Amino acid sequence: MNEKSCPKCKGQMEKGFIGDKETMSRESRQNWGTGINALGSGLDNPYPVTTFRCKDCGYLESYAY
Ligand SMILES: [Zn+2]
Repeated sequence: MNEKSCPKCKGQMEKGFIGDKETMSRESRQNWGTGINALGSGLDNPYPVTTFRCKDCGYLESYAY
């Protein structure tokens, strides 16, 4: 997953993630899940979301794994 090329312009994709600068912390990373858990305190089957950004055109592509 480290050597990715942009699907739009074939530029180099840089690995990162989307955070909120207001609440920046390790816990602010976005997660993908299949739903809200029974306790309502989080996600079922969560995966942290990794977003790649094209260095050339700025296109974003996200993966949860
Ligand atoms: Zn691109």
